[in-house]
Amino acid sequence: MKLREVLRYAEQKLKDGGIKEYKSDARFLVSDFLKGDLSSIIITPSKEVDISELDSALDARISGIPCQYITKNVQFMSLEFEVSKDVLIPRQDTELLVETIMKMGLKNPEVLDICTGSGCVAVALSKYINCKCVRACDISEKALEIAEKNASNNGVNVEFYQDDILKSEKYNFKYDVVVSNPPYIETDVVLKLDSIVKDYEPYIALDGGQDGLKFYIKIADYAKKVLKKGGLIALEIGYNQADKVTEILKSNGYENITLYKDLSGNDRVLTANIKKF
Ligand code: GLN
Repeated sequence: MKLREVLRYAEQKLKDGGIKEYKSDARFLVSDFLKGDLSSIIITPSKEVDISELDSALDARISGIPCQYITKNVQFMSLEFEVSKDVLIPRQDTELLVETIMKMGLKNPEVLDICTGSGCVAVALSKYINCKCVRACDISEKALEIAEKNASNNGVNVEFYQDDILKSEKYNFKYDVVVSNPPYIETDVVLKLDSIVKDYEPYIALDGGQDGLKFYIKIADYAKKVLKKGGLIALEIGYNQADKVTEILKSNGYENITLYKDLSGNDRVLTANIKKF
C-alpha cells in the first residue's frame, strides 16, 4: 500500500470494526507503525509499505485491547514510557500532577512517589527537576520491573522498592515531597467502567476501596511521618473527591491546601504542606 493511503485505511478499518475513537486510535497506531514519523506520509507519499504489522495492530485494537498495550509505549510529559498490562497507562491528566510540582521551584528536593506503576511520575520529576533523590514504591513487582526500565530508558536515577503502602511502616527516610496518583475509583464504579479500562488495565491500580478514599487516608498519615517540616504532599484526585480529600488532609495537620483543575475543568490535583511546627 502507498504511504498516502495508510492513515485512511487504518481509520476505515477501525471504524468498520466498531471503534468509537477510530480517528485518534488510527493516528496512534499508524504513528507507531511508522516509528513515530507521521511526516513521512507527506514527505514520501508514494512509497510502498508492507502493512501486515499495522494490520495485526488494528485487529488487536478491534478485539478490544487499548492502543498503548498494543504498541507497548506511550508518551508522558514528552518522554517515552514502556507499558504492559501490569501497569496503568499513564494519563495526560496526570501531567498536571508533575507540572504542579515543577512550578513550585523546589531546590534539590528529596522525593517519594507512592504507587508509582509505570514510574511515569517519578521519572518525569527526576528528568525535569534537579532532585537530590527520587524514590518510588509500588506493591507490584511486575510494575516495578517496567518502572526500572522506564527510568533507565529515560536516563534518570530513581530508587524503586516494593511496598504495600496500605500496610507500610517504612518511616526511615525523610522527604521534601511525597507525591502519589493512587488507585482512587470506588469499587462499585470500577466494575462499571468502559471495557477498555476495566478489562485490560490492572484492577489493583484502579480500585480505591468502597469509598475510593482508602489510599488517601493512609498516604496522608504516612506522608506526615516521612515529610520534613513544611514538606509538600501532592495528590492526584478523582473529579468528585476534592472536598473529601481536603478533609483528610486537614485532619492530618496539613495546611495551604490548594486545588488545581485539569484541562477539562475537573478537580484533579491537591497540594498541601505539613505544618512547620
Ligand atoms: N503513578 C502511576 C500513574 O500515574 C500509577 C498510578 C496507579 O497505578 N494508580 O500512572
